[in-house]
Amino acid sequence: MIPVTKAFLPLIEEYKEKLNEIWESGWITNNGKFVKQLESQLRDKLGVNYLFFCSNGTIVIQMALKALNITGEVITTPFSYVATTNSILWEGCEPVFTDISSRDFNIDCSLIEKSITPKTTAILATHVYGNPCDVETIERIANKYRLKVIYDGAHAFGVQYKGKSLLSYGDIATCSFHATKIFHTVEGGSISCNDALLADTIMKYRQFGHVYDEYYSVGINGKNSEFHAAMGLCNLNHFDEILLNRKEICQWYDIELAGKVGFPIPIDETTVNYAYYPITLENETILLKIIEQLNEQQIFPRRYFYPSLNKLPFITKQYECPVSEDISRRVLSLPLFYGMGKEIVEIVSNIIKKNI
Ligand SMILES: *Cc1c(COP(=O)(O)O)cnc(C)c1O
Repeated sequence: MIPVTKAFLPLIEEYKEKLNEIWESGWITNNGKFVKQLESQLRDKLGVNYLFFCSNGTIVIQMALKALNITGEVITTPFSYVATTNSILWEGCEPVFTDISSRDFNIDCSLIEKSITPKTTAILATHVYGNPCDVETIERIANKYRLKVIYDGAHAFGVQYKGKSLLSYGDIATCSFHATKIFHTVEGGSISCNDALLADTIMKYRQFGHVYDEYYSVGINGKNSEFHAAMGLCNLNHFDEILLNRKEICQWYDIELAGKVGFPIPIDETTVNYAYYPITLENETILLKIIEQLNEQQIFPRRYFYPSLNKLPFITKQYECPVSEDISRRVLSLPLFYGMGKEIVEIVSNIIKKNI
Protein backbone atom coordinates (compact mmCIF):
# COMPACT_ATOMS: atom_id res chain seq x y z
CA MET A 1 0.00 0.00 0.00
CA ILE A 2 1.36 3.41 -1.00
CA PRO A 3 -0.12 6.25 1.06
CA VAL A 4 -0.01 9.94 0.14
CA THR A 5 2.45 10.47 2.99
CA LYS A 6 4.39 8.48 5.56
CA ALA A 7 6.04 9.80 8.68
CA PHE A 8 9.83 9.90 8.81
CA LEU A 9 11.18 7.92 11.75
CA PRO A 10 14.71 8.28 13.12
CA LEU A 11 16.69 5.19 14.04
CA ILE A 12 15.09 3.73 17.14
CA GLU A 13 18.48 3.92 18.92
CA GLU A 14 18.45 7.70 18.55
CA TYR A 15 15.05 7.90 20.17
CA LYS A 16 15.96 5.37 22.87
CA GLU A 17 18.91 7.51 23.87
CA LYS A 18 16.46 10.31 24.62
CA LEU A 19 14.09 7.92 26.37
CA ASN A 20 16.91 6.85 28.68
CA GLU A 21 17.40 10.45 29.70
CA ILE A 22 13.67 10.86 30.35
CA TRP A 23 13.68 7.74 32.55
CA GLU A 24 16.70 8.95 34.46
CA SER A 25 15.21 12.34 35.20
CA GLY A 26 11.66 11.12 35.75
CA TRP A 27 10.44 14.40 34.19
CA ILE A 28 7.96 13.59 31.43
CA THR A 29 5.97 16.77 30.79
CA ASN A 30 5.37 20.38 31.97
CA ASN A 31 8.04 22.38 30.20
CA GLY A 32 10.85 19.85 30.64
CA LYS A 33 14.38 19.85 29.33
CA PHE A 34 13.59 18.46 25.86
CA VAL A 35 10.67 20.84 25.33
CA LYS A 36 12.95 23.77 26.15
CA GLN A 37 15.74 22.40 23.94
CA LEU A 38 13.37 21.90 21.03
CA GLU A 39 11.90 25.38 21.44
CA SER A 40 15.32 26.94 21.45
CA GLN A 41 16.42 25.04 18.33
CA LEU A 42 13.18 25.91 16.56
CA ARG A 43 13.49 29.60 17.41
CA ASP A 44 16.89 29.59 15.74
CA LYS A 45 15.80 27.52 12.77
CA LEU A 46 12.61 29.49 12.16
CA GLY A 47 14.01 32.92 12.95
CA VAL A 48 11.35 34.01 15.44
CA ASN A 49 11.84 35.72 18.80
CA TYR A 50 9.23 33.74 20.71
CA LEU A 51 8.02 30.22 20.00
CA PHE A 52 6.01 27.80 22.11
CA PHE A 53 5.85 24.07 21.48
CA CYS A 54 2.24 23.01 21.87
CA SER A 55 0.08 19.92 21.63
CA ASN A 56 -1.04 20.32 18.02
CA GLY A 57 -1.43 22.66 15.06
CA THR A 58 -5.10 23.39 15.73
CA ILE A 59 -5.06 24.49 19.35
CA VAL A 60 -2.35 27.02 18.46
CA ILE A 61 -4.69 28.73 15.97
CA GLN A 62 -7.34 28.93 18.70
CA MET A 63 -4.76 30.33 21.12
CA ALA A 64 -3.68 32.89 18.50
CA LEU A 65 -7.27 34.13 18.03
CA LYS A 66 -7.70 34.32 21.80
CA ALA A 67 -4.38 36.04 22.50
CA LEU A 68 -5.15 38.77 19.96
CA ASN A 69 -8.70 39.24 21.35
CA ILE A 70 -10.27 38.43 18.01
CA THR A 71 -14.06 38.74 17.90
CA GLY A 72 -16.65 39.24 15.17
CA GLU A 73 -15.61 38.53 11.60
CA VAL A 74 -12.36 36.94 10.46
CA ILE A 75 -11.39 37.09 6.82
CA THR A 76 -10.06 33.71 5.83
CA THR A 77 -9.23 31.38 2.98
CA PRO A 78 -11.62 28.70 1.73
CA PHE A 79 -8.66 26.64 0.50
CA SER A 80 -7.03 25.08 3.56
CA TYR A 81 -7.45 22.22 5.97
CA VAL A 82 -10.72 22.31 7.94
CA ALA A 83 -8.80 23.14 11.16
CA THR A 84 -8.34 26.73 9.95
CA THR A 85 -12.09 27.32 9.69
CA ASN A 86 -12.95 25.24 12.74
CA SER A 87 -10.65 27.30 14.96
CA ILE A 88 -12.47 30.49 13.97
CA LEU A 89 -15.86 28.94 14.68
CA TRP A 90 -14.67 27.31 17.92
CA GLU A 91 -13.58 30.71 19.20
CA GLY A 92 -17.05 32.08 18.50
CA CYS A 93 -16.03 34.17 15.51
CA GLU A 94 -17.44 34.20 12.01
CA PRO A 95 -15.28 33.10 9.08
CA VAL A 96 -15.66 35.35 6.05
CA PHE A 97 -14.41 33.35 3.09
CA THR A 98 -12.48 35.30 0.51
CA ASP A 99 -11.59 33.57 -2.73
CA ILE A 100 -8.09 32.44 -3.69
CA SER A 101 -5.68 33.25 -6.47
CA SER A 102 -5.66 30.72 -9.31
CA ARG A 103 -1.89 31.18 -9.48
CA ASP A 104 -0.73 30.07 -6.03
CA PHE A 105 -4.07 29.01 -4.42
CA ASN A 106 -3.52 31.41 -1.49
CA ILE A 107 -6.05 34.06 -0.43
CA ASP A 108 -6.50 36.60 -3.25
CA CYS A 109 -5.39 39.91 -1.74
CA SER A 110 -7.22 41.96 -4.37
CA LEU A 111 -10.51 40.68 -2.86
CA ILE A 112 -9.75 41.23 0.83
CA GLU A 113 -10.83 44.86 1.09
CA LYS A 114 -14.26 44.03 -0.36
CA SER A 115 -14.75 41.49 2.46
CA ILE A 116 -14.03 44.00 5.23
CA THR A 117 -16.98 45.26 7.31
CA PRO A 118 -17.11 47.21 10.61
CA LYS A 119 -17.12 43.81 12.38
CA THR A 120 -13.88 42.59 10.80
CA THR A 121 -11.05 42.21 13.32
CA ALA A 122 -8.53 39.88 11.68
CA ILE A 123 -7.20 38.09 8.63
CA LEU A 124 -6.37 34.41 9.08
CA ALA A 125 -4.65 33.06 5.98
CA THR A 126 -2.85 29.80 5.21
CA HIS A 127 0.48 29.54 3.37
CA VAL A 128 -0.95 26.69 1.41
CA TYR A 129 1.48 23.87 0.45
CA GLY A 130 4.20 26.03 2.02
CA ASN A 131 3.87 28.75 -0.66
CA PRO A 132 3.84 32.23 0.90
CA CYS A 133 0.73 34.39 0.91
CA ASP A 134 1.33 37.89 -0.40
CA VAL A 135 2.39 38.90 3.11
CA GLU A 136 3.27 42.48 2.18
CA THR A 137 -0.12 43.31 0.68
CA ILE A 138 -1.87 41.62 3.61
CA GLU A 139 0.21 43.69 6.03
CA ARG A 140 -0.62 46.90 4.17
CA ILE A 141 -4.37 46.17 4.26
CA ALA A 142 -4.20 45.12 7.92
CA ASN A 143 -2.45 48.35 8.89
CA LYS A 144 -4.93 50.45 6.95
CA TYR A 145 -7.98 48.87 8.65
CA ARG A 146 -6.29 48.07 11.99
CA LEU A 147 -6.73 44.33 11.62
CA LYS A 148 -4.64 41.60 13.20
CA VAL A 149 -2.92 39.04 10.99
CA ILE A 150 -2.56 35.36 11.84
CA TYR A 151 -0.89 32.89 9.50
CA ASP A 152 -1.73 29.23 9.62
CA GLY A 153 1.77 28.09 8.74
CA ALA A 154 1.04 24.38 9.14
CA HIS A 155 2.72 23.75 5.76
CA ALA A 156 5.37 26.45 5.98
CA PHE A 157 8.11 24.87 8.09
CA GLY A 158 11.56 25.97 6.95
CA VAL A 159 10.41 28.28 4.15
CA GLN A 160 12.32 31.55 3.67
CA TYR A 161 10.59 34.47 1.97
CA LYS A 162 12.81 37.40 0.92
CA GLY A 163 15.55 35.93 3.05
CA LYS A 164 13.38 35.85 6.17
CA SER A 165 11.58 32.97 7.79
CA LEU A 166 8.01 32.85 6.47
CA LEU A 167 6.84 32.13 10.02
CA SER A 168 8.17 35.50 11.17
CA TYR A 169 5.46 37.37 9.22
CA GLY A 170 2.12 38.39 10.76
CA ASP A 171 1.19 39.16 14.37
CA ILE A 172 1.24 35.44 15.08
CA ALA A 173 2.18 32.42 12.97
CA THR A 174 1.37 28.84 13.81
CA CYS A 175 2.80 25.56 12.57
CA SER A 176 1.77 21.92 12.80
CA PHE A 177 4.17 19.12 13.67
CA HIS A 178 1.66 16.36 13.04
CA ALA A 179 3.01 13.04 11.76
CA THR A 180 1.88 13.90 8.22
CA LYS A 181 3.88 17.13 8.07
CA ILE A 182 7.47 17.55 6.79
CA PHE A 183 8.82 18.08 10.29
CA HIS A 184 6.92 16.17 12.95
CA THR A 185 6.82 15.41 16.67
CA VAL A 186 4.12 12.69 16.25
CA GLU A 187 1.52 15.23 17.41
CA GLY A 188 2.49 18.83 18.01
CA GLY A 189 2.53 22.39 16.82
CA SER A 190 3.99 25.78 17.49
CA ILE A 191 2.81 29.32 17.98
CA SER A 192 5.29 32.10 17.39
CA CYS A 193 5.44 35.88 17.45
CA ASN A 194 7.96 38.67 17.78
CA ASP A 195 6.23 40.70 20.51
CA ALA A 196 7.26 40.15 24.14
CA LEU A 197 3.91 41.07 25.73
CA LEU A 198 1.98 38.86 23.35
CA ALA A 199 4.43 36.03 24.02
CA ASP A 200 3.84 36.38 27.75
CA THR A 201 0.07 36.07 27.23
CA ILE A 202 0.56 32.99 25.05
CA MET A 203 2.93 31.40 27.57
CA LYS A 204 0.25 31.72 30.26
CA TYR A 205 -2.57 30.55 28.00
CA ARG A 206 -0.65 27.38 27.24
CA GLN A 207 -0.56 26.41 30.93
CA PHE A 208 -4.11 27.13 32.16
CA GLY A 209 -3.48 30.87 32.61
CA HIS A 210 -1.33 30.54 35.72
CA VAL A 211 2.31 30.42 36.75
CA TYR A 212 2.64 28.47 40.01
CA ASP A 213 0.25 30.17 42.44
CA GLU A 214 -0.28 33.35 40.43
CA TYR A 215 -3.48 33.24 38.34
CA TYR A 216 -3.57 35.71 35.44
CA SER A 217 -6.25 34.81 32.93
CA VAL A 218 -8.31 32.00 31.53
CA GLY A 219 -6.11 29.46 29.85
CA ILE A 220 -6.07 26.07 28.26
CA ASN A 221 -3.83 23.04 28.31
CA GLY A 222 -1.77 23.46 25.16
CA LYS A 223 1.42 21.85 26.50
CA ASN A 224 3.29 19.01 24.90
CA SER A 225 5.40 16.26 26.48
CA GLU A 226 9.05 15.28 26.72
CA PHE A 227 8.31 12.22 24.55
CA HIS A 228 7.04 14.41 21.71
CA ALA A 229 9.86 16.91 22.11
CA ALA A 230 12.38 14.04 21.99
CA MET A 231 10.96 12.90 18.66
CA GLY A 232 11.24 16.48 17.42
CA LEU A 233 14.88 16.75 18.48
CA CYS A 234 15.71 13.49 16.68
CA ASN A 235 13.85 14.53 13.52
CA LEU A 236 15.30 18.02 13.44
CA ASN A 237 18.77 16.47 13.09
CA HIS A 238 17.58 14.81 9.90
CA PHE A 239 15.66 17.74 8.44
CA ASP A 240 18.19 18.73 5.75
CA GLU A 241 18.47 15.14 4.57
CA ILE A 242 14.65 14.81 4.48
CA LEU A 243 14.37 18.00 2.44
CA LEU A 244 16.98 16.89 -0.09
CA ASN A 245 15.31 13.53 -0.54
CA ARG A 246 11.88 15.09 -1.04
CA LYS A 247 13.36 17.56 -3.51
CA GLU A 248 14.73 14.69 -5.58
CA ILE A 249 11.34 12.93 -5.63
CA CYS A 250 9.62 16.18 -6.68
CA GLN A 251 12.13 16.55 -9.51
CA TRP A 252 11.29 13.04 -10.75
CA TYR A 253 7.61 14.02 -10.79
CA ASP A 254 8.49 17.30 -12.56
CA ILE A 255 10.25 15.45 -15.36
CA GLU A 256 7.23 13.19 -15.87
CA LEU A 257 4.46 15.75 -15.48
CA ALA A 258 5.70 19.27 -16.29
CA GLY A 259 3.60 20.83 -19.04
CA LYS A 260 0.97 18.09 -18.75
CA VAL A 261 -0.87 19.03 -15.54
CA GLY A 262 -1.34 22.26 -13.60
CA PHE A 263 0.59 23.35 -10.51
CA PRO A 264 0.30 26.16 -7.98
CA ILE A 265 3.04 28.67 -8.77
CA PRO A 266 4.69 30.32 -5.75
CA ILE A 267 5.39 34.06 -5.68
CA ASP A 268 8.97 35.19 -6.35
CA GLU A 269 11.79 35.32 -3.82
CA THR A 270 10.72 32.28 -1.85
CA THR A 271 12.36 28.96 -1.09
CA VAL A 272 10.29 25.79 -1.31
CA ASN A 273 10.03 23.01 1.28
CA TYR A 274 8.62 20.15 -0.84
CA ALA A 275 5.86 19.58 1.71
CA TYR A 276 3.35 18.41 -0.89
CA TYR A 277 3.13 17.58 -4.58
CA PRO A 278 -0.24 18.97 -5.65
CA ILE A 279 -1.37 18.86 -9.28
CA THR A 280 -4.51 20.15 -10.94
CA LEU A 281 -6.32 18.22 -13.65
CA GLU A 282 -8.65 19.50 -16.33
CA ASN A 283 -11.82 18.47 -14.52
CA GLU A 284 -13.21 16.35 -11.69
CA THR A 285 -14.18 13.44 -13.96
CA ILE A 286 -10.54 12.94 -14.96
CA LEU A 287 -9.43 13.34 -11.34
CA LEU A 288 -11.86 10.66 -10.14
CA LYS A 289 -10.78 8.28 -12.89
CA ILE A 290 -7.13 8.73 -11.95
CA ILE A 291 -7.87 8.16 -8.26
CA GLU A 292 -9.78 4.99 -9.08
CA GLN A 293 -6.96 3.58 -11.20
CA LEU A 294 -4.34 4.49 -8.60
CA ASN A 295 -6.42 2.84 -5.88
CA GLU A 296 -6.52 -0.34 -7.97
CA GLN A 297 -2.71 -0.32 -7.72
CA GLN A 298 -3.01 0.20 -3.93
CA ILE A 299 -1.83 3.80 -4.30
CA PHE A 300 -3.76 6.38 -2.33
CA PRO A 301 -3.31 10.02 -3.30
CA ARG A 302 -5.40 12.60 -1.43
CA ARG A 303 -7.90 15.25 -2.46
CA TYR A 304 -6.12 17.94 -0.52
CA PHE A 305 -8.13 20.20 -0.21
CA TYR A 306 -11.67 19.19 -0.96
CA PRO A 307 -14.28 20.52 -0.46
CA SER A 308 -13.75 24.26 -0.60
CA LEU A 309 -14.30 25.24 3.05
CA ASN A 310 -17.13 27.69 2.27
CA LYS A 311 -19.10 24.59 1.21
CA LEU A 312 -18.77 22.74 4.53
CA PRO A 313 -22.18 21.47 5.68
CA PHE A 314 -22.10 23.62 8.84
CA ILE A 315 -21.41 26.86 6.95
CA THR A 316 -24.85 28.27 6.28
CA LYS A 317 -23.98 31.60 4.63
CA GLN A 318 -23.27 31.77 0.91
CA TYR A 319 -19.86 32.99 -0.20
CA GLU A 320 -18.63 33.64 -3.72
CA CYS A 321 -15.48 31.55 -4.07
CA PRO A 322 -15.55 30.29 -7.66
CA VAL A 323 -11.77 29.81 -7.93
CA SER A 324 -11.48 27.83 -4.71
CA GLU A 325 -14.50 25.69 -5.58
CA ASP A 326 -13.10 24.98 -9.03
CA ILE A 327 -9.54 24.20 -7.86
CA SER A 328 -10.70 22.04 -4.95
CA ARG A 329 -12.71 19.83 -7.32
CA ARG A 330 -9.69 19.05 -9.51
CA VAL A 331 -6.62 19.20 -7.25
CA LEU A 332 -4.81 16.07 -6.15
CA SER A 333 -1.84 15.62 -3.81
CA LEU A 334 0.40 12.83 -5.06
CA PRO A 335 2.32 10.41 -2.83
CA LEU A 336 5.45 12.05 -1.45
CA PHE A 337 7.48 10.85 1.51
CA TYR A 338 11.06 10.29 2.57
CA GLY A 339 12.57 7.22 0.91
CA MET A 340 9.83 6.84 -1.70
CA GLY A 341 11.14 4.95 -4.74
CA LYS A 342 11.32 6.25 -8.30
CA GLU A 343 9.16 3.35 -9.49
CA ILE A 344 6.21 4.80 -7.58
CA VAL A 345 6.66 8.14 -9.32
CA GLU A 346 6.67 6.27 -12.63
CA ILE A 347 3.53 4.22 -11.92
CA VAL A 348 1.65 7.28 -10.67
CA SER A 349 2.77 9.47 -13.57
CA ASN A 350 1.93 6.86 -16.18
CA ILE A 351 -1.61 6.47 -14.87
CA ILE A 352 -2.03 10.25 -14.88
CA LYS A 353 -0.65 10.60 -18.40
CA LYS A 354 -2.90 7.82 -19.70
CA ASN A 355 -5.96 9.75 -18.52
CA ILE A 356 -5.25 13.32 -19.61
C1 LIG B 1 -2.39 19.89 9.49
C2 LIG B 1 -3.01 21.22 9.41
C3 LIG B 1 -3.55 21.85 10.54
C4 LIG B 1 -3.78 21.15 11.86
O1 LIG B 1 -2.67 20.64 12.44
P1 LIG B 1 -2.80 19.49 13.56
O2 LIG B 1 -1.45 19.46 14.15
O3 LIG B 1 -3.17 18.23 12.85
O4 LIG B 1 -3.86 19.92 14.52
C5 LIG B 1 -4.01 23.15 10.43
N1 LIG B 1 -3.96 23.81 9.26
C6 LIG B 1 -3.47 23.24 8.15
C7 LIG B 1 -3.42 24.03 6.89
C8 LIG B 1 -3.01 21.92 8.17
O5 LIG B 1 -2.56 21.35 7.05
